[in-house]
Amino acid sequence: MRVGVLALQGDVREHQRILESLGAEAVWVRRKEDLKNLDGLVIPGGESTAISKLIGIFDLMQTLREFVATKPVLGTCAGLILLSDQVEGRLDDQELIGGLDIVSSRNAYGSQANSFEATVQYEDTTEPVAFIRAPKILDTKSAKVLATYQGQPVAVQQNNILAACYHPEITGSTHLHSLLITEIDSRQ
Ligand code: GLN
Repeated sequence: MRVGVLALQGDVREHQRILESLGAEAVWVRRKEDLKNLDGLVIPGGESTAISKLIGIFDLMQTLREFVATKPVLGTCAGLILLSDQVEGRLDDQELIGGLDIVSSRNAYGSQANSFEATVQYEDTTEPVAFIRAPKILDTKSAKVLATYQGQPVAVQQNNILAACYHPEITGSTHLHSLLITEIDSRQ
């Protein structure tokens, strides 16, 4: 199984290591060709405005949209923002990948100074994760809630797309990546 990590910004190596620790081959994605022959993709957190500019500069938007339409994808933090169909606080010139029919709100957990570590609750486990200028999910629509924090949805899955408001890789949490791998396995 080959899983790509979008390598424009963020904790690319950390995501790669987690995927490898779960038995997947993990490769960096920077060019359109890199998306060929991948079974899944991780879009790391960072700054969604910067990442969307880089997606434009690297001419990846169309290929990413096609990938996200059919293949398993995990977006974390800025990745969740980029995958959302509707984003509160989106800059006028900020292009989204879209595909995930939720409404999210940028920086809704506060600024950099309000960043925090917390334990999130999944259906059958808990994990420590990091919230860094994290978005909130304002409306999950038809998405399934995968994790909550203080009763609020913070990770969701809609068909092939998984997305979380937080950074799992900073604390080495692996649950979301293993759900991504399960989703890939179920299609092979
Ligand atoms: N709030 C940031 C944004 O708009 C996301 C922060 C993050 O990915 N840590 O992109």
